[in-house]
Amino acid sequence: MTNNNNKPAEEKKEQFKYELEYDRDGCIGAGSCVAVYPEQWSLDDEGKAVFVKKEFNDNELEKNKEAAQACPVNVIHIRNKHTGELIDQK
Ligand code: SF4
Repeated sequence: MTNNNNKPAEEKKEQFKYELEYDRDGCIGAGSCVAVYPEQWSLDDEGKAVFVKKEFNDNELEKNKEAAQACPVNVIHIRNKHTGELIDQK
């Protein structure tokens, strides 16, 4: 007897745990996020922040949290995609 295990596994492709929510309209270009996490944040020609990666995992959570918490107008948030919770609260 053989088990019928020929179904394709539910592959976990690139499943990211967290995502950034960023309110560009509210950004005042203070640059705190850039100072804290320059690999992720920079200022564009309009003096507004832009980020590199919308989604990421635990290995990048701390730096993203620091940037979110550094923003003086609180326009950067991090959501846990699995639970739906905002997790950058101070
Ligand atoms: S810290 Fe906040 S206000 Fe300052 S550039 Fe970054 S997103 Fe914009």
